[in-house]
Amino acid sequence: MAERRTPSTQGGGTRPHMRRAPGAAPSANRHAATARRSPSSAARTQPRCATASSASRVQARRRAPQASARRSSRATWLFALGALALAGIALWGVISLAGAIVGGITSAVTPSAGDSAIIEDSAATTSDIVIGLNGDADTFVLAGENYLEAGAHATDPVHGILNDAIEVTGDVDASRAGDYTVTYSVADPDGGTATAERHVHVVDEMDTMQTGVPVLMYHYVYTQDAPPENLNGNYLLDTKLAEQLAYLTENDFYFPSYQEVRAYLEGTHSLPAKSIVLTFDDGEAGFLSRGIELLEEYKVPATSFIIASEADAADRVVANASPYVSFQSHSYNMHRAGGTIGHGGIVSALSREEIADDLKQAQAVVGTSEALAYPYGDVTDDARAAVDDAGILCAFTTENRWAEPGDDVRSLPRVRISGEYTIDGYKSLVTE
Ligand SMILES: [Zn+2]
Repeated sequence: MAERRTPSTQGGGTRPHMRRAPGAAPSANRHAATARRSPSSAARTQPRCATASSASRVQARRRAPQASARRSSRATWLFALGALALAGIALWGVISLAGAIVGGITSAVTPSAGDSAIIEDSAATTSDIVIGLNGDADTFVLAGENYLEAGAHATDPVHGILNDAIEVTGDVDASRAGDYTVTYSVADPDGGTATAERHVHVVDEMDTMQTGVPVLMYHYVYTQDAPPENLNGNYLLDTKLAEQLAYLTENDFYFPSYQEVRAYLEGTHSLPAKSIVLTFDDGEAGFLSRGIELLEEYKVPATSFIIASEADAADRVVANASPYVSFQSHSYNMHRAGGTIGHGGIVSALSREEIADDLKQAQAVVGTSEALAYPYGDVTDDARAAVDDAGILCAFTTENRWAEPGDDVRSLPRVRISGEYTIDGYKSLVTE
């Protein structure tokens, strides 16, 4: 990769992220959309507030909400419901614990596995839609090119994946410079609603990607107090991930959608300079817990490729839902040996029809169809054709390099991120 650009700590004037995020809506309460996670945010570091000038930029970006849940209309209803539930619980305490009312209330606060009725009640009162955008919440488009709608993703603990129920409103006139807002709204069958907003900036000029775009391939995340038994390069220490995410956000990286990536590679769309895509394979526990926590802390969107045939795959999509994570297909049942090419994945033993059926089955589980990571990175001509059949925008192998204009979008390379890399090594991999 040519190192044309000197590190622009002072910020070139036309960098898209130097522009103010307009139409600043009320500050998003991330926790309204992800009530599941306990905040513990008081001590949250603000790594991007390094200098005064970058601080104002950070403020501008922060004002653009990635996600916000509207629950005010439900608040009184939920309060009434909660009061009712509490009354019921108290009564239950009186009856079943022979006068030990205090005991009943205590177990309501921290339900044990046996108290299924109480768990149901408490789930109902905390039930929430999690909604997030695909791609960057501040989307940049060169005037005269097309605004590519990347959509959003949403789940609800009770109703599961709600992606198909998301309604998109707001117009973007990409023919001339201006700032626009696109709104994503979703309602669950019980009347709960949530919205997310995208701020689209149509600009007359911006620095753009020249030679390609890095799509990073991560695997697993672990913490120092619980290292994996067979520690290898696929495992990344959480503090290293935090360091990388801090670097990306402090330096105004842009996180394009798969629609934008595909169009860029096909030569019909410009990507802002410092574009990058983060993907994590296999939906491993350490990523789902600690990894997603960090993506949320740094507000960096990423993709989690999960194996859809795993028994709890759909549940994991819902249980680990995050405004910043799009769950995509790592195939339904092709993450196994049995083939003859590459790493020996089963794909080379399957027909185009069989592969297409598998991919569609996976899409039904994860509820998305933008991207695919081939198991083991193995790909055949039949697999490429099946990717077309399944309507997938970008499919990835494990070939280790940047994706470049002209590459086949059905078998794109990625940049492997090893847990052994230093931050300087990382920087050299992600910058043009
Ligand atoms: Zn895998």
